[in-house]
Amino acid sequence: MSYTVDGATGPWELVIGLEVHAQVISQAKLFSGASATYGGEPNSQVSLVDAAFPGMLPVPNEFCVAQAVRTGLGLDAHVNLVSRFDRKNYFYADLPAGYQISQFTHPIVGAGRIEIELGDGTRRDIGITRLHLEQDAGKSLHDQDPTRSFIDLNRSGVALMEIVSEPDLRSPEEAGAYLRKLRTILRYLGTCDGNMEEGSMRADVNVSVRRHGEPFRTRCEIKNVNSIRYVMQAVEVEARRQVAIWEAGGTVDQETRLFDPQRGETRSLRTKEDAHDYRYFPDPDLLPLVLDEDWVAALKAALPELPDAKRLRFVSQYGIPAYDAAVLVAERDTAQFFETVAAGRDARLASNWVIGELFAALNRTGRTIADSPVTAEALGGLLDLMADRTINGKIAKEVFEAMVETGEGASAIVERKGLRQVVDVGAIDSAIDTVLAAHADKLAEYRSGKDKLFGFFVGQVMKAMAGKGNPALVNEALQRRLAPGA
Ligand code: ADP
Ligand code: MG
Repeated sequence: MSYTVDGATGPWELVIGLEVHAQVISQAKLFSGASATYGGEPNSQVSLVDAAFPGMLPVPNEFCVAQAVRTGLGLDAHVNLVSRFDRKNYFYADLPAGYQISQFTHPIVGAGRIEIELGDGTRRDIGITRLHLEQDAGKSLHDQDPTRSFIDLNRSGVALMEIVSEPDLRSPEEAGAYLRKLRTILRYLGTCDGNMEEGSMRADVNVSVRRHGEPFRTRCEIKNVNSIRYVMQAVEVEARRQVAIWEAGGTVDQETRLFDPQRGETRSLRTKEDAHDYRYFPDPDLLPLVLDEDWVAALKAALPELPDAKRLRFVSQYGIPAYDAAVLVAERDTAQFFETVAAGRDARLASNWVIGELFAALNRTGRTIADSPVTAEALGGLLDLMADRTINGKIAKEVFEAMVETGEGASAIVERKGLRQVVDVGAIDSAIDTVLAAHADKLAEYRSGKDKLFGFFVGQVMKAMAGKGNPALVNEALQRRLAPGA
């Protein structure tokens, strides 16, 4: 069933296209040598170019260009060997030059695609229209002084990639899946850290609604949404607003709107500006950007393994379910962690422990995999103790909790707490004696045909052995003892 918003006269389909601004990971800015790192003292990372002093000339940063090309390659996209920088003219207090250097008619990257995965396991390709390079603006600070505003130019000139999708998305869930997948790819590539809270990735959300099979209707663009959850909420409330307008016989005006998460609504900011309002023209300070084919090929050859390829490899190499593989590759650190645990061990068991016990422990302790209290080597050591039957699976969970708490290795905990599995048949038999003697009534019931009590006896024997009995041996011994005529 496809996602729709129901109006009084029937269902409406959603049409969504996303424009994502992704801050390029780079030490220096796009056209100056000033530092591009986040969080410095206001105006401590500003060159004369970033402050637009007269006569200053921009010089393209080759590393930022390479980052854009690598991102394009990671999105299966066409890299344009010739692109161009344009001036996008507008006035704003935090834009000292009066224009932003961007790419308009000739972007560095053309059409590509992203495969998204939905909750029910279905996959869809979403088209990428283009990726272009541009500068970020500075920041106006309105909350520092009661009567004055301040300008911080640290961000001025920092390289951004604008990644534009086709209007292929059809539901809030798809929009969320697209952003998550894009963020994963950017992080694998190391071209953007994807931190939406810090603003290094933000989305403009274009939404329209239509009846099934109709051409597209007018869209509105919701600016600068800074979390995936807000994008999904904004899509939904904006679609409902438009449906109500169409249903009432009105028309939707093309507008730029803002999402207010507190009130759960979008508000009009301005009527939509058109390209010609910006008086785009080629920046006369910059030559066309011409890339060497071999340079692009070398960047391509050096790309890391990307999440889709890794997921497919995990399924075929380790024989784990596709869903588990998708969970493991969502973060590169997690995939790496899993591979270290799985090396030379039962990979399904490794995957279950990472996704199950480890994720639960990280959640509980508020940590990420990068600062996991249990290292991949240590978790591997625990699985080894299960494999060589030093401990059973139940005790392993207890050992793991102790590892999370103390940071000790599995063997040390097993020895200190005396948790070795009991494989001595004599000890198991004597535990069985004790249990059967204590539960003569249950034994009689069992003998008279109540087979289900077998599980009860297993549980009691394990309990008598403080959980340390080897489950297979305990089962065997009980089978023997309870067999008819025994
Ligand atoms: P602009 O640059 O003026 O914002 P674009 O044509 O580049 O306009 O489109 C921007 C975004 O809007 C793209 O992500 C595109 O997929 C999306 N879009 C275009 N038409 C529609 C529509 N009718 N409904 C929803 N999204 C749309
Ligand atoms: Mg736009």
